[in-house]
Amino acid sequence: MRETSAHIPEWLGDWVGGGGSLLLMTDYDGTLTPIVNDPEDACLADEVRERLRALARTPGVRVAVISGRDLEDLRERVAVPELIYAGCHGLEISGPNLSFSHPDAEAQQDAVHAVSMALCMGAPFIEGMRVEPKRLGVAVHYRHVAAAGRQELETVLARSLHRKGGQFKLIHGHKVIEVLPQVSWNKGLCALWIRDRMMIELPAPMIVFYMGDDWTDEYAFEILVGKAVTVRVGEAHEPSKADYRISGVHEVERLLTNIASEVVERRAS
Ligand SMILES: [Mg+2]
Repeated sequence: MRETSAHIPEWLGDWVGGGGSLLLMTDYDGTLTPIVNDPEDACLADEVRERLRALARTPGVRVAVISGRDLEDLRERVAVPELIYAGCHGLEISGPNLSFSHPDAEAQQDAVHAVSMALCMGAPFIEGMRVEPKRLGVAVHYRHVAAAGRQELETVLARSLHRKGGQFKLIHGHKVIEVLPQVSWNKGLCALWIRDRMMIELPAPMIVFYMGDDWTDEYAFEILVGKAVTVRVGEAHEPSKADYRISGVHEVERLLTNIASEVVERRAS
């Protein structure tokens, strides 16, 4: 894996200028916005929004944001209508002429809501526990739960899952445990699904980018080997299947600025 920041866009401008198309897929938290204490505060910088908007409005270019967040939450935070959005780790996808909701997840929606409800009822007894219901999942935030309350939180979670009798998948993130329906789907399969649709829609040849900062993005890095240019965001503590690594969110901003200026200008000229 190579360290990078600036040299990718040099040839990308030539690519798009020569008639090739571009699909840029990116994660949200930790990639487009810094990781913050409260996920509610993870706001997109106006400059980044403008880059995404400029790219998405360029002919032959599509931008997709793929996140663990609820689809509507993600759409409101990014607030660029031209984009493709994938929420709940790709279980729901929505964009111009694009709509998908995983049928196996839909089938388990009632069970997920029942777990959500049980967790909400347990939350007042554990100081700092916050439950975030989503349409196809639920997240339990424990950043503000004292160490002494963690065991209790685990018990509430285990009881909520057990009592509802469904089949669930747990995803451990930054001080958050996400409960999702047990469906063989992830950000990687979602990215591939979007890429396959765009191969029909956009002129060939198409180049694909995927950027992300945590282990759930590794599904995409792995499945896109040989199919995309992949970029892991963050310090080099953990191994990654991505082609490139960049150090953090402000490097992502720089990369997006470079891509946007190369691509938008070349397409306009
Ligand atoms: Mg992330």
